[in-house]
Amino acid sequence: MAGLEKVLEIYEQIWALNYALALIGWDSETYMPEGSAKERGEVTSVLETMKQRLYISQNLLSALEELEESAESDVEKGIVRVLRRTIKYYTAIPADLVKKEEKVVNEAKIAWRRAKKEANFSLFAPYLEEIVEINRKKAEYLGYEDHPYDALLDLYEEGATTRELESFFDSLIPPLERELKRILSSGWPQDHPLEEAPYREMDMETLNREILNLLGFDWGLMRIDRSAHPFTEGIGLYDVRITTWYHGKDFRRSLLATIHEFGHALYERQCDPKFWKTPVCGGVSLGIHESQSRFWENIIARSRAFASFLSPIVKHHLGIEASPDDLFYYFNLVRPSLLRVEADEVTYNFHIALRFEIEKGLIDGSIEVKELPSLWNQRMEEYLGVVPPDDSLGVLQDIHWSLGAMGYFPTYSIGTVVAAQIKEKMEKDLDLENLIEKGEFGPIREWLRERIHRWGAIYPPKELLRRSLGGGPDPEAFLNYVRGKYKW
Ligand SMILES: [Zn+2]
Repeated sequence: MAGLEKVLEIYEQIWALNYALALIGWDSETYMPEGSAKERGEVTSVLETMKQRLYISQNLLSALEELEESAESDVEKGIVRVLRRTIKYYTAIPADLVKKEEKVVNEAKIAWRRAKKEANFSLFAPYLEEIVEINRKKAEYLGYEDHPYDALLDLYEEGATTRELESFFDSLIPPLERELKRILSSGWPQDHPLEEAPYREMDMETLNREILNLLGFDWGLMRIDRSAHPFTEGIGLYDVRITTWYHGKDFRRSLLATIHEFGHALYERQCDPKFWKTPVCGGVSLGIHESQSRFWENIIARSRAFASFLSPIVKHHLGIEASPDDLFYYFNLVRPSLLRVEADEVTYNFHIALRFEIEKGLIDGSIEVKELPSLWNQRMEEYLGVVPPDDSLGVLQDIHWSLGAMGYFPTYSIGTVVAAQIKEKMEKDLDLENLIEKGEFGPIREWLRERIHRWGAIYPPKELLRRSLGGGPDPEAFLNYVRGKYKW
């Protein structure tokens, strides 16, 4: 049997376990009865161990070696690359560190929730110390060339390095600070009465469904539910699920979350079916994934053309009279604020730059956990001119660190920037504005499929960007987008 067939025969079991784990993960966030979490946790842990064993099995390793020698096509090389990455992770990190991480994270999640509720960082600080320590060790085991943070970044964005991201934020943040000052002093709206407009959840759900229909949601293979925080779960190529949220007012939040998750889902769904049941089926990295969600959320749904398209639909389903102009400004308020998840597209990247600096410093030891609250507040004031009144609106706001994740945040800014690059490139081929205004999203989906989605994970993110967009992430594209959009 040829190397590829052997590898895929073993991988089929991993694929099936991944499918089961994803379905279980989706259910845990949507329909699982509250009291079932403990039993569910044990099932997940058994399945994870089975998967890990398959990855490091001698069978797979010898088949992979054989494939490595004979691999000629991009697909075969991609399969080898993706498998090698996962195997490296499972073999480099010793089992006792994994066990320790599981234990710390279990306790840290609870401590973080309590600390956040009581706005008391000191309740979470000892756990964060341990999480930083675990991540430092992980970096040592995984190895890096230049900075220990590189090893962690690579887990979420293959090939990303500290040095590259430093230069990325150096080209992005200072000009963006100037843009923000300009926008704020120009009298651009910072708030809007529609933020207070109430809706009935039933109506909002119908509106979300109608918009998904128009965007091209495939109801035969996709579904939408609700959860505490919106997310997408690509269970398989033929089962992709999204969730959204409802707040009873400020319909923009529910709608934009729905459209954001649609972008993630479409990326998963439009992978070349030839890659089905292989390790290269699905999105290549978190940054590229986020570029797809941000493209639909920011570039499409926050455009003037979309506001025109949306105005009659909002009136029909929510009974809210809002002119295209109303909707455009309501969707594009620029308001320096405390919370990352509520930030607009102009101020968003400052929140990420702050987290990047902090994570890098924690990992290389130049920042200590105990300094975080004051450092956080000081940087928020410098970047955005706002100071959190307490730690729950400051350093404790995100769940990521409590889950042990360090190196994740920068992928949000990579995605935001790449989305603007996609717009630039797409406009050379399509009359984007006209298509959006008419609600013709087919050519847009097709463009994304052809350039980005169909390739799955066969190329590393930077290589994919080079092939599909000529390079990147390129902060200049995002800055141009901001300069063009936010002017009266
Ligand atoms: Zn996202």
